[in-house]
Amino acid sequence: MKKVISFDLDGTLVDAVYGEMVWNHGIPTEYARTHGMSFEEAKAFIRGEYLSVGDGNILWYEIRHWLTRFGLDVSAPELLERYSSHIALQPHAEEVLRELYKKYTLVIASNAARIFVEKELGQTGLTGFFTHVISATTDYGMVKKEEAFFHRLCREAAVAATDMVHVGDHPVFDHDVPAGLGIESYHIDGHEAGSAPAKTAAGPRRTITDLKELLEYL
Ligand SMILES: [Mg+2]
Repeated sequence: MKKVISFDLDGTLVDAVYGEMVWNHGIPTEYARTHGMSFEEAKAFIRGEYLSVGDGNILWYEIRHWLTRFGLDVSAPELLERYSSHIALQPHAEEVLRELYKKYTLVIASNAARIFVEKELGQTGLTGFFTHVISATTDYGMVKKEEAFFHRLCREAAVAATDMVHVGDHPVFDHDVPAGLGIESYHIDGHEAGSAPAKTAAGPRRTITDLKELLEYL
């Protein structure tokens, strides 16, 4: 019997625009000012630097690493606060959580650094729904692409993989990896490039386009 539902945060419960603003607007703006170049030049340079690391590497998620690497004189909390007006819930996020909360233990399993997770949950008022809030990168020192992450998450939530559900917008990290461990996984489509329904080693992806669909399945 399903007992625990684990949610990704960015692009799943919270609109991905906030992360976009911090990483692809805020950091290039600071870089352009510090190094005397145009915003567009700075943005292209920084994009290249991000891609040279890639989202499978823990450094990708560590904002303090990037601020230091780029020689920027702004603190992470300051930068996160600057764009906080862009923090917004995905459609139906709150009503779906309110329903599921009645039947299940809810957890957050995000790759974002804890500083982002706390900012987003705090501002959207969602914190109280979750029994466990895990930043894979800050708390476990790993990226939520490894099976080891989901093993540890199950242990922490004291639940068998087959009694857990995971929901998220990354086709591989949020669907294929957990599905491969027997976790019933739902890929929420529409926020991640190249995420068309696909057949994977774990079978066809379960794909939803709106969080509300979860109420039909769970
Ligand atoms: Mg996500």
